[in-house]
Amino acid sequence: MADQYDVIVLGSGPGGYVAAIRCAQLGLKTAIVERELLGGICLNWGCIPTKALLRSAEVLNHMKHAASYGLAADNIRADLDAVVKRSRGVAKQLNQGVTHLMKKNKITMHMGTGVLKSPTSIEVTGDKGTETISAKHVIVATGARARDLPFAKADGNRVWTYRHAMTPKELPSKLLVIGSGAIGIEFASFYNDMGADVTVVEMLDRVVPVEDADVSAFLEKALTKQGMKIMTGAGVESLAVSANGVKAKIKAKDGKVIDGDYSHVIVAVGIVPNTENIGLEAQGVKMERGFIQIDGYGRTGAKGLWAIGDVTPGPWLAHKASHEGVIAAEAIAAELGNKDVHPHPMDRANIPGCTYCHPQIASVGLTEAKAKEAGYTVKAGTFPFIGNGKAIALGEPEGFVKTVFDAKTGELLGAHMIGAEVTEMIQGFVVGKTLETTEAELMHTVFPHPTISESMHESVLAAYGRALHI
Ligand SMILES: Cc1cc2nc3c(=O)[nH]c(=O)nc-3n(C[C@H](O)[C@H](O)[C@H](O)COP(=O)(O)OP(=O)(O)OC[C@H]3O[C@@H](n4cnc5c(N)ncnc54)[C@H](O)[C@@H]3O)c2cc1C
Repeated sequence: MADQYDVIVLGSGPGGYVAAIRCAQLGLKTAIVERELLGGICLNWGCIPTKALLRSAEVLNHMKHAASYGLAADNIRADLDAVVKRSRGVAKQLNQGVTHLMKKNKITMHMGTGVLKSPTSIEVTGDKGTETISAKHVIVATGARARDLPFAKADGNRVWTYRHAMTPKELPSKLLVIGSGAIGIEFASFYNDMGADVTVVEMLDRVVPVEDADVSAFLEKALTKQGMKIMTGAGVESLAVSANGVKAKIKAKDGKVIDGDYSHVIVAVGIVPNTENIGLEAQGVKMERGFIQIDGYGRTGAKGLWAIGDVTPGPWLAHKASHEGVIAAEAIAAELGNKDVHPHPMDRANIPGCTYCHPQIASVGLTEAKAKEAGYTVKAGTFPFIGNGKAIALGEPEGFVKTVFDAKTGELLGAHMIGAEVTEMIQGFVVGKTLETTEAELMHTVFPHPTISESMHESVLAAYGRALHI
């Protein structure tokens, strides 16, 4: 039987739907298979609805500090139901946007659960029954789900995953967050701003452990100042869940076991790829800890079978998934004879990471410690927001920008920021890193005044002993 499609994409998250659009743009007959909601975790249960929640918390915070801006606001309170409703509305709007994009690009949607029958055919079971569809190429983009703790299975009542935490029926009075990666810290920040009493427990010796150590230290201080309890080097050993709450045994840094009572617990200890029960084993695909191993273009090694996004090695971020989707689509088009596409393999060194807590965090490239570990002689510079006019005018003087350079060549190795708007600024350094910039070009770059981005310039100058405003 002839293939129905050139490409079928299994999963419609930011990896899958972007791959499908790029395939369609390149003239490939394309289908997408989705068992739940178009847009995947990112649009429906991840990046976007959390940012909507965090925006409400940010506005609430500004309102609480109205007096410091010369404004009066009385009787300020949050309506949790309305906050959640707004977040769900934003997710729904984007889900509908993806449906529109699929139609606009003439991508056929097969709604149902897909299982690979061969590297290039998929059995889809949905409301309308079961059908088998085939293509010259298949891209697996089935994403990931929350990792459970064996002794802390989420019940949606007292023990929550991110899905429950995004649609709370009540505000936790006393919240325990297990894990201080981006997801854990964002929810901790949201609920703290909303008025919950929040404790964060982190196994490693610092919060947001993938970030530069200076950023972790600054964040811990800021969150503590906001009223959060932070326990690092600590582990939750057991949870006893009752109708009224959760009793937790937490082994603290000093080895002492502390008993704590909480109304709710959020488990945010990482993700598990959705790579079971989709027929991968039979296709001879190489897996490690459940993640599909791929080359720089998304090839799995099984002819015609590709993988992108959270099912492949990290970082597990939406923009990484989308970028891999574009690369795989172009590599497939090239294999099918398109001579006008020239895909580049994924460069994992230049993928930015952002955490939208309060204060925000953004980074790209090597931390100072990782750069030293990699054998570089390092020049690092830090510029605090307190020396930046715009940050002070905005009433946001908390934060800094740190840049890390190879002392021998001047190559920008990494940039690390914490403070207001840094998630919008990091892209300046990402472009620089992608263009393999050195300190000289960054110093020659004119930054607009007054902007917080001037701190980026100043941090580069600081690395070379030339900062102007400290
Ligand atoms: C709370 C939270 C906040 C986040 N915030 C950010 C952020 O701010 N920035 C960022 O970059 N990343 C963020 N992420 C991570 C981001 O959501 C993921 O990296 C991204 O969604 C991965 O995209 P993907 O396309 O690989 O998979 P997913 O988005 O997981 O999509 C996979 C899709 O495949 C479908 N599927 C799975 N199995 C099958 C099957 N057998 N048949 C049919 N369909 C199937 C699923 O239903 C799903 O729709 C966040 C994640 C969470 C949980």
